[in-house]
Amino acid sequence: MDVSLTGFAPLGDRVWWARAEPASVTVGLVAGGTGCLVVDTGSCPSQGRAIRAAAEATAGVPVVAAVVTHHHYDHLFGLAAFADVATYGHRSIPGSVLRHAGLARELAEMGLSRADLARPGRAFRRRAALDLGGRPVGITHLGPAHTPGDSVVIVPDADLVFAGDLVEEAGPPSIELDTSLPGWLRALDRLLRRCGPATTVVPGHGRPVDRAFVAAQRAWLAAAAP
Ligand SMILES: [Zn+2]
Repeated sequence: MDVSLTGFAPLGDRVWWARAEPASVTVGLVAGGTGCLVVDTGSCPSQGRAIRAAAEATAGVPVVAAVVTHHHYDHLFGLAAFADVATYGHRSIPGSVLRHAGLARELAEMGLSRADLARPGRAFRRRAALDLGGRPVGITHLGPAHTPGDSVVIVPDADLVFAGDLVEEAGPPSIELDTSLPGWLRALDRLLRRCGPATTVVPGHGRPVDRAFVAAQRAWLAAAAP
């Protein structure tokens, strides 16, 4: 099992992204005047600690918060490394983890047990907001989609959105047992309404894309819907 992390590459003014293995998952980083936010936490607590150290070395300010975009292992299983800071995630996440049929296999593959998992300390239903020191960031649940609890992280002053697995560039969108395809189309409609022609959308897997890519992926999903 390749458990590794690239360096953080810039996406805009004090916003970065990195890629973590396994699963080539995107990790986001947003810095403000007093602290930084990590978006998605990798596949195990030790990877979460590596992400945290790299984030602080890159941003030059302490990690004050982490958000998980949804409950899948490559985004969530590193969350315990952030237990002493504010952690955000949709309130459905703990239940979705326990219902996930692949949980035992994924834990075994990562050499973990349930005791290694953390739940978001600041669970929200619709949205959460935080200020990193003169830099507001919004976290919004756009409705059940790829999973019941997908959230996007919006950095208004950078015109940038971390979309989690609502958008995938590395391959086709991942339709799972608990996916709601009609919900996913509604969520992408809501996301598209928030995007302008210059908005950067950062997928959960793959390279940053633009509004036109998101619109094309919505069309792909609409064609996949029964
Ligand atoms: Zn996912």
